[in-house]
Order: sequence, then C-alpha cells, then structure tokens
Amino acid sequence: MSEVNEVTEAPEDEPRAECVLCREPTEYPQSRPGITLCPRCEWQEAQRTACSG
Ligand SMILES: [Zn+2]
Repeated sequence: MSEVNEVTEAPEDEPRAECVLCREPTEYPQSRPGITLCPRCEWQEAQRTACSG
C-alpha cells in the first residue's frame, strides 16, 4: 500500500534466512550474505567464542 515507506531493515514480505544451526527463521533476509544465525544461536556462538582463549 504505502510506496513511500522507508525501511532500513528487510521488508516484511522478504523470506527470512534459516539459522544454519537449528533451522529456525532468523531476523535476516535470505539475501543476506554469509552465515545466518537465529538470535539464540547467535548468543550461544558469542558465549562460546568469548570463552575460548
Ligand atoms: Zn539457531
């Protein structure tokens, strides 16, 4: 409906990428390059990398 809707994030109708770990839909659009993680897995990855080394 609204053509002048300025969106900085993915549009609602764009399919979301799957999380590469648990296959849950992420916040990212499928057009996003690289690895996509859902918020939960992203958090877990952050914890893991934070604890290593
Ligand atoms: Zn996940």
